[in-house]
Amino acid sequence: MFDAMRLTILGAGPAYTDREGASGACYLVSRGSTSLLLDLGQGSFPRIFPNLRPEALDAVVVSHLHPDHFIDLVPLRHYLRYELTPRRRMRVLGPSDLGGRLDALHATPGFSAEALELATLGERTHDVGGLVIEGRLVTHTDESYAIRVSPADGGPGLVYSGDCGRAEDIAPLVRPGDTILSEASFGPGPVPPGAIHLDAPAVGRLATATGAARVLLTHLQMGHDPDATVEACRAAYEGPVEMVWPGSRVTL
Ligand SMILES: [Zn+2]
Ligand SMILES: [Zn+2]
Repeated sequence: MFDAMRLTILGAGPAYTDREGASGACYLVSRGSTSLLLDLGQGSFPRIFPNLRPEALDAVVVSHLHPDHFIDLVPLRHYLRYELTPRRRMRVLGPSDLGGRLDALHATPGFSAEALELATLGERTHDVGGLVIEGRLVTHTDESYAIRVSPADGGPGLVYSGDCGRAEDIAPLVRPGDTILSEASFGPGPVPPGAIHLDAPAVGRLATATGAARVLLTHLQMGHDPDATVEACRAAYEGPVEMVWPGSRVTL
């Protein structure tokens, strides 16, 4: 029987915001007995618990090394190290310098390796239980990824933008019928010169060009109106568009 993927939004915030209760990027993808997180940004670690115990996750996949996408690996590491008997190690796929960055934060070589099994995401596929992960480099930091998650036995996938300055970079990951979960940092737009992020019209054009089935918008920076952002995406794409928030649940 076809087993659907489910997406639960744990954190949808950008790097900083005046929106009370917002926390950094964190998206729970589940299918059957497999669960993984896309990103684990600031303040989102406690939001795992109402859904599952962190040690039940099969992996955490990190798009890039900005704190709103990875910094709660620190509380995850502490939880795995100090709260569990026997200790557990968690598989983490991400940029190549992820371990070094975490170790430097604590000025402790080996800090991350005590509880995290780190591997480079790269532009390739990884099997995680009943799911397949595929990374693709996008314009943002030196090593930023967009990520596709799909059922191992086929079927529509979820393509997550991470943070991205050029929507075209994401297009090769999107198969017709996929759902796009994309940052729309600058809302209805335009993106100011030098800001390496997307606006909603760019996401809409991406969805139209790739035959995506649905668009979920996230990572809205403060000062931008959610309704106007959704409308701006709809002007470039005829399919369903919504803004997602912590607590949003989507069957894919
Ligand atoms: Zn971000
Ligand atoms: Zn970023």
